[in-house]
Amino acid sequence: MITRPLRLFSLLLLTLFIYLPGGVAQSCEYPSVSFKADFSGGHLSRCKQLGERHYELVFLPENRPVNSSPWYAFEVATRSPQTLKLSLTFDGDAPRYLPKISRDKQHWHQIVFQADSLGFHIELQTDNKPLWIAGQEILDNDYYDKWLSGVKVKNVALIELGKSTQGRSIKGLESKHQGNKEWLLMIGRQHPPEITGALAMQPFVDNILGDSDLAKSFRQRFNLLIVPNLNPDGVELGNWRHNASGIDLNRDWNKFEQQETRLINYYLKTLLNDKNKLVMGLDFHSTKEDVFYTIPASAAIAPKNLVTDWLEDVQNRSKNFFKVRNKPGNAPGRGVFKQYIADTFQVHAVTYEMGDSTNRQLIKHMALVTSDSLMQTLNNTPPDSFYMQENQ
Ligand SMILES: [Zn+2]
Repeated sequence: MITRPLRLFSLLLLTLFIYLPGGVAQSCEYPSVSFKADFSGGHLSRCKQLGERHYELVFLPENRPVNSSPWYAFEVATRSPQTLKLSLTFDGDAPRYLPKISRDKQHWHQIVFQADSLGFHIELQTDNKPLWIAGQEILDNDYYDKWLSGVKVKNVALIELGKSTQGRSIKGLESKHQGNKEWLLMIGRQHPPEITGALAMQPFVDNILGDSDLAKSFRQRFNLLIVPNLNPDGVELGNWRHNASGIDLNRDWNKFEQQETRLINYYLKTLLNDKNKLVMGLDFHSTKEDVFYTIPASAAIAPKNLVTDWLEDVQNRSKNFFKVRNKPGNAPGRGVFKQYIADTFQVHAVTYEMGDSTNRQLIKHMALVTSDSLMQTLNNTPPDSFYMQENQ
């Protein structure tokens, strides 16, 4: 028989246990070394000393089930130079993002690692300055604020769609010329650790907002809605995949139960009325290899060959150093952005995926190639072709 106060205490403990997500950022302090994840995008769940200079750092997902994309990002500080052995483990999940090191959280380098089914094992030589280890470059919410507020282009406005689950601002850019009716939509960062997609999105967008003749003529005809960071809570918390409610946003584009997807859906529904027409949607992600997930031409979309034409042109422009993989597919009922755009607006939508380990210069270069080619392809497409013809 347990006493009432003890029962209350147990209840409280149970509550804490249920509501403390696995991804809560933590610090681990040892006499000669500390590991900290108390920064935006940081992620470290717990630590264990395995030997004199050997530590296991454990990274748990925000909740389960979750796509196996273990994110980790932490600071290492020692009082004196030493050689540390770190084992990064992921609660049974296989490692995905190869470890990188930075001295300033801005510039990152690959480090030598060993990997097994449990995780990564690295050896670190420290000095008396802190260093950071992470699965990918850290692109936090500040990065987006700086980028978006730094865009000073005529007819391009910084907008706020609303607030995320935890009250963070979801911002975007809108490029609008009077009389334009056609819209291109671009979104990113539904999945927080998918950094290579984000590394593609910025140069892609900046090129379309740039001052080349092509970009200017493109914006004369097409308006743009750009929302590069749809999951600012997940980005802040260093989540593996989900938003602050533990939901994969790219499985919610049919139910719209999440604040983030609801916001953008509402915005689109208001924007796209009889007069305004969405011509295409793009969503930036990362996976094992570079791939464009597209909607098959057999689907009820127009114009049929837009994306195959675009990607063929991209391949022609890059044949000696980049392999364009166009993977058409339908995913009815799964709640993914691409399918929602195709089903709702009868136009193409593409999941633009860069490989986790694709060369960063190549990602940037290909973003310029794909955006130039897309602008040209869309410029060459007559407005009527974005509507399904009656005999189709
Ligand atoms: Zn993704």
